Amino acid sequence: MNSYPSKIFHWIAGREVESNDYFAKINPADEKKLADVARGNRAEADQAVKAAVESFEAWAGMSVNERAEVLDRAIGLIEQKRDELAEIVALEFGESKKGAQGEIDAAIKCGKFFAAIKSFEPEILESSLPNRSLRLERQPAGVGVLIVPFNNPAAGVAWKIFPALLCGNTVVLKSHEDTPYVGVWFAKIFQEAGLPDGVFDVVQGVGPEIGQALVENPKVGFISFTGSSRTGSAILKASADRMVKVSIESGGKNPIVVCADADLDKAVAGAVSASFIDAGQRCAAASRIIVVEQVYDEFKKHFLEKVKTLKVGVADDANYGAIINERRMQAILDAVKGAVSRGATLLCGGERLKLLGFFIAPTVLEGVLPDDEISRTEVFGPVPVLYRVRDFEEAVALANHSDYKLSSAIFTESLNRAEEFIKRMRVGVVRVNAPTYGSEPHVPFGGLGLSGNGWREPGRQALDFYSELKQVSIDYHGQS
Ligand code: NAD
Repeated sequence: MNSYPSKIFHWIAGREVESNDYFAKINPADEKKLADVARGNRAEADQAVKAAVESFEAWAGMSVNERAEVLDRAIGLIEQKRDELAEIVALEFGESKKGAQGEIDAAIKCGKFFAAIKSFEPEILESSLPNRSLRLERQPAGVGVLIVPFNNPAAGVAWKIFPALLCGNTVVLKSHEDTPYVGVWFAKIFQEAGLPDGVFDVVQGVGPEIGQALVENPKVGFISFTGSSRTGSAILKASADRMVKVSIESGGKNPIVVCADADLDKAVAGAVSASFIDAGQRCAAASRIIVVEQVYDEFKKHFLEKVKTLKVGVADDANYGAIINERRMQAILDAVKGAVSRGATLLCGGERLKLLGFFIAPTVLEGVLPDDEISRTEVFGPVPVLYRVRDFEEAVALANHSDYKLSSAIFTESLNRAEEFIKRMRVGVVRVNAPTYGSEPHVPFGGLGLSGNGWREPGRQALDFYSELKQVSIDYHGQS
């Protein structure tokens, strides 16, 4: 591909900035080096934050409408260059171009949702005091850091950058080590769309190095983080003393409950799709398939039949692609081996495919205890576990038995049972007769427990994170 660079730099104050050190980005689908990537350090983090600080007043001072116009122009350019971005995502993430195109379309829709918000109407309140007018206005949250995961890299950047810029913030995006070019590509598009230099900066490098330096920078006023719970917790600790506003969107251990009265074809299709989407590398992928005993054997038979038809690779008809890097592939295989050594039954897969690239065969386990490590930790791979339960009561209890509380689904034809499940699940998302993943730009997404700390992106609720309310009152003397 022509547009993928052999060297990837930081993007600071509207231009590429070199580093002293570089690391290799490997294509997960063929194990070849794609590029050398800048390995940023604290000085480079500070340089990027400085650019964002210096550009803040002018950008924050523009009207929402003017900022939305820049967003509109950027969306037009992304639409024009949709194919180029899809190729970058497909290469970095190790998936089919068709799969990547679906993600770009989601990113564009997200941009359009935010660009359509042309003004923030103040809320008018009535004061209990005489001769006082009162209103609430939105103001930018400040200079922020956006930290993204490797999965769905284009949609991940879009979810953060569009609301962050619309609200008048200036930001430094920390690219993921495994998907380094997507953020720079977006920043270049925004420059072409007329975004002033410095408003959107991008740095490259290793999380505990440049990521940590950004989080510790005293000029940073907010941090929007999507990634693992472990990193989220480290970021909260590192920024706690300065009381920085931090949004954490992290992992999931999402259950699907299959009831005796479920449409089994629909349940099998939904559970397979939710378990293997992006090779299980999605926060909202399903990893715990909880089936009541009356239909367990029948469900398992059809589930395994469908799993065996899955195609793995980067061809457009593939169901899923590669694991993002060799280390993570090995960790997934080790997690499966560990579960089997503790008594789990491997129903299929459990091995690396004999292909170039980091591909794992579709894997299914059963006979795992609810407190086994593989039941409690996020594997982030194509490895669902089937659980046999007595009845609905046990299914709900097991579904809720997790420190992660992101998404969940139930397959049932009973409206009463569906409503009961909705009421009793302590999670951020409940779906009835549909997979655990899939979101829309106007709908806020997020979880409880280890899955997040209460903020929501996208939807209008994202504006509550990326802006701060200002209470304004005007006292007048009441005489003309
Ligand atoms: P990760 O935590 O390993 O890395 C995420 C980002 O944090 C990377 O850019 C990394 O460089 C950076 N980072 C690492 N250490 C840091 C530190 N000390 N300070 C600052 N930054 C640091 O996550 P990952 O494995 O790359 O991403 C997958 C995870 O993201 C999964 O847990 C998945 O469930 C989660 N995720 C959640 C959502 C959601 O919306 N809830 C969406 C996508 C992914």
